[in-house]
Amino acid sequence: MIKVLNYINGSYCEPISGKWLDNYNPSNGEVYSKIAKSEARDIEQAYVAAKEAFKSWSNTTIDERSRIMLKIADLIEDNLLKLANAEAMDNGKPLSLALTVDIPRASSNFRFFANAITQFSSEAHESVGLNTMNFTLRQPIGVVGCISPWNLPLYLFTWKIAPAIAAGNTVVAKPSEVTPMTAFLLGEICTKAGLPKGVLNIVHGEGPTAGQAIIEHPEIKAISFTGGTKTGEHIARTAAPMFKKLSLELGGKNPNLIFADCDYDKMLAVTVRSSFANQGQICLCGSRIFVEKPIYEKFKKDFVAKVKELKVGDPFEASSNIGALVSKSHMEKVQSYIKLAEEEGGKILYGGKRVTVKGLENGYYLEPTIVEVYDDQCRVNQEEIFGPVVTIMPFEREEEALKMANSVKYGLSSTLWTTNINRTMRMSKKLEVGIVWVNTWLNRDLRTPFGGTKNSGVGREGGFEALRFFTEAKNVCIAYEDE
Ligand code: NAD
Repeated sequence: MIKVLNYINGSYCEPISGKWLDNYNPSNGEVYSKIAKSEARDIEQAYVAAKEAFKSWSNTTIDERSRIMLKIADLIEDNLLKLANAEAMDNGKPLSLALTVDIPRASSNFRFFANAITQFSSEAHESVGLNTMNFTLRQPIGVVGCISPWNLPLYLFTWKIAPAIAAGNTVVAKPSEVTPMTAFLLGEICTKAGLPKGVLNIVHGEGPTAGQAIIEHPEIKAISFTGGTKTGEHIARTAAPMFKKLSLELGGKNPNLIFADCDYDKMLAVTVRSSFANQGQICLCGSRIFVEKPIYEKFKKDFVAKVKELKVGDPFEASSNIGALVSKSHMEKVQSYIKLAEEEGGKILYGGKRVTVKGLENGYYLEPTIVEVYDDQCRVNQEEIFGPVVTIMPFEREEEALKMANSVKYGLSSTLWTTNINRTMRMSKKLEVGIVWVNTWLNRDLRTPFGGTKNSGVGREGGFEALRFFTEAKNVCIAYEDE
């Protein structure tokens, strides 16, 4: 059985305790590998390696850091099939998605920040009349912690690591214990690319032990975290007395607002994707659909018909649109929301049941599920389900749509379908979210800021925002004499 080992100081190693966690293949419910069950001692080992590596990495030229990161990007591309297979096996997502989205994006993350760091320069301000010259030093922080979730495993893991090391930091990183496999494989790639030992240390294990040891470590001064809102709150509480720098990318319950004047066919096709891509397990999925009344009944009929065409099945079959949910406990959580939807008076327009896939009877498959709700304040419309379940509801006026869109505690993203430019501007300004997509969804230019408002998080990733997070700004003010 494969052992998912820690990668510390450039080498793979077993957890100090000698203990292991079971790793499940969600497509068949079987244990297929063992994961290092790390604890504080392993994190300390990783920290010591990272601290030592910081001395030289922080003084390595930008060109050299960039060259190594481009090599990592190339090697990820060279290993596309191997990594995509590992991601699909570990997570349950369709292999086609891992091949076209997850793994290419992991490579792009390194490529993007390898280039971005070459453009990230100091600013200088001459204070004319005061005879002073100010410039801003952007210095790496030191050893930083990166903690990521299971839904887009390598994609989100590298989205943090790449800017952190580009800026000259060294890293102690923990992927989700539910999907550790591609992070495990990344270690080997980094060694091959010539990343100096200790620059990236990957430690596996559970949140309350391994993760907790990272956030509690007094010398790990910045934490970049993506995951659930509850965990984010806990991290903020733990880190506050140590005044750590935090980037928190948390949950979402994103509105998909559909107006009668939209490009209907395009909207319908994208809405199917924004509802159920990756089994609905993307923090950006448009899980609350609000439709303007004149097209509500037509949309309902067409949407159900399109969703019926989606095939739930083996992630490794090319014809599968929807794979397995990530774990048994997560599937049960989603099922409990489907039950709640009915108890709250919602109407299941389609789906709701577990799917038995031939030969994979113990896999965690659910039908894509559409719930018509009558009260936007009901729990299924307010709480993050993070699975293949969407709610739909009609609205009459723009202000009503806006009010419902903003009525949740989350504020990550929203999608707006309209051809009216005035409405686009009005709504974009008033939506309480970090990202507004208009007539599109999940379109990402890596230079743009990414993150949420309200309970969806604190801070922004992407482009220079990420490089700013992973550096300390220091103003240097030099007085000079005219003569
Ligand atoms: P989670 O919060 O349970 O776990 C995320 C990571 O935190 C894992 O690596 C876990 O081991 C670790 N962790 C758990 N407890 C910890 C602790 N006490 N100290 C330190 N680390 C700890 O989240 P999840 O179930 O893996 O992911 C799903 C959530 O992630 C959803 O809420 C989803 O919306 C969110 N998410 C957000 C974004 C975003 O960009 N905003 C992107 C993807 C997923």
